[in-house]
Amino acid sequence: MTDFSKGVAYIEGEYVAIAEAKIPLMDWGFLHSDATYDVAHTWKGRFFRVDEYIDRFQTSMAKLRMSVPYGHEQIREVMFELVRLTGLRDTYVEIVCTRGIPAPGSRDPRDCSNRFLAFAVPFVWIADDEKRETGLNLLISRQQRIPPESVDPTIKNYHWLDMVMALFEAYDHGADTAILVDARGDLTEGPGFNIFARHGDTVTSPEHGVLHGVTRLTLLELLERENLQINRGRLPADAARAADEVFITSTAGGVMPVTRIDGKPVGEGRPGTLVHKLNDAYWALHEDPDYSVAISY
Ligand SMILES: *Cc1c(COP(=O)(O)O)cnc(C)c1O
Repeated sequence: MTDFSKGVAYIEGEYVAIAEAKIPLMDWGFLHSDATYDVAHTWKGRFFRVDEYIDRFQTSMAKLRMSVPYGHEQIREVMFELVRLTGLRDTYVEIVCTRGIPAPGSRDPRDCSNRFLAFAVPFVWIADDEKRETGLNLLISRQQRIPPESVDPTIKNYHWLDMVMALFEAYDHGADTAILVDARGDLTEGPGFNIFARHGDTVTSPEHGVLHGVTRLTLLELLERENLQINRGRLPADAARAADEVFITSTAGGVMPVTRIDGKPVGEGRPGTLVHKLNDAYWALHEDPDYSVAISY
């Protein structure tokens, strides 16, 4: 039997080792970044909120006027099968829809037959163990996030050049990652994560101009259980710098404390009590049958 422990892809209706998986050069998913995707994960052999991820993916496809001959259940089955084939407990599972290939000579997106593919690989962390323990140094990038009027950020997409250039800027300044601003200078999101800031009893997370992360949603739900005011609103850069606690959220890593912004300490310069509590609660949900479902290997 093929060893799929480094990852497996579902493409053209077949399961292949991740290193062998290919898409045709002429697919607009590659040539135009004309694609949408989603990323779910499994932890200790259980899928976390898998239906929420599939729902978001299907909404993204509809917004981009894409359709594939796979409904919610079929997508779900492919995702479970991918994880089962890897034999791994902790995985990162990506589902993708590309525009496909137009008829020869055509530039009409209506002529494309959309392509569905998916893959599962070992779990990916945005930040390593040490950074998740001590906290990240976040750079507030000068790079403006692609405006939501141009590319709808609630559709998970591969328009990442703003993010990638912000990452270079972060590394040039000795930071671990970057957050991008909007035209007003308010914080939006970073390469694959949303942001939260606590000032006293108020927790703010930008809502406009960002992907509505499933991890962010989970954190908002967990915050409802605390005696805190939740503000789904603007987070100006100076407000983030003056926060008591800042943290970022992503499927690739959960909740991660930010202890420095542009190299300067946030609050006490140590991960706060709230982020510790939320982190424990977030991972505990991974064993809760209301939030996760077991895979039969
Ligand atoms: C995936 C992603 C996030 C985080 O969303 P989750 O569903 O929590 O993983 C935030 N911003 C962008 C741009 C993303 O691509």
